[in-house]
Amino acid sequence: RIVYVNGEYVQESDAKISVFDRGFLFADGVYEVTSVLEGKLIDFDGHLRRLRRSLVELAMTIPCPDEELLSIHRELVARNAVVEGLVYLQVTRGAADRDFAFPKNVPQTLVLFTQAKSIVDSPLAKRGARVVSVDDLRWGRRDIKTVQLLYPSMAKMIAQEKGADDAWLVQDGLVTEGTSNNAYIVTQDGTIVTRDLSSDILAGITRAAVLKCARELQMKVEERPFSIAEALTAREAFTTSATGFVCPVVEIDGTALSDGNPGAVAVRLRQAYIEESLKAAI
Ligand code: PLP
Repeated sequence: RIVYVNGEYVQESDAKISVFDRGFLFADGVYEVTSVLEGKLIDFDGHLRRLRRSLVELAMTIPCPDEELLSIHRELVARNAVVEGLVYLQVTRGAADRDFAFPKNVPQTLVLFTQAKSIVDSPLAKRGARVVSVDDLRWGRRDIKTVQLLYPSMAKMIAQEKGADDAWLVQDGLVTEGTSNNAYIVTQDGTIVTRDLSSDILAGITRAAVLKCARELQMKVEERPFSIAEALTAREAFTTSATGFVCPVVEIDGTALSDGNPGAVAVRLRQAYIEESLKAAI
């Protein structure tokens, strides 16, 4: 696989990052994941916008102009012949002597790689995911997409140990989001409910696109927090993320929702989102 490291395209086995890189030592970096369908980038502008915001929030600079980031994405997709999958981008504050204070005048580290993966034809989306609730013990700035992913990894392992696919994180009795996705329920009267944006959750790019689809389809949307107890009374549930699109959730904490099959709203939104995002793909 060809990867991109600081201006160069190299074989992954030749790629080098300093042991002093602050991404490695402090998780001092941000990332984005853009999905690729039919060799094209999905929601690229949204991911770039959020990347810029994450960088600003951490007093980091933009690594290179938007046009250049787009061409690196395209070049990697082409060189690795990715038809379906994702492009991962990471920017860290760079390599410097280990010190908690941010270093000055250090070049940032920019890394991108691709992963080929079948994402439209996903067995999990077909079957529907089983989730369990886990305490949300992450830091307080989840609106920034940092590479600090240890707690979400631990939550995912707790879920797997319980025979589930993923965890829904709960803070003060209310669901924040999934380990790597935004969480939704559909009430008995058909209203889509998802937590409102704040520093408690990541503003999903797929979330924005899917809510737009839902409103265009005349579905009712409420942006507010919900509890696991409320979710257990829901008609259906689902998650959204760049590589999962819309993924139905069929079981929460061991209790099946409705008949235990993917819900109609989730299935419809998944299809609508894939169609709409493909039309706008670049
Ligand atoms: N929430 C968290 C914690 C995530 O890690 C992600 C994606 O990685 C999302 C939500 C969904 O964001 P997006 O739709 O931009 O992929």
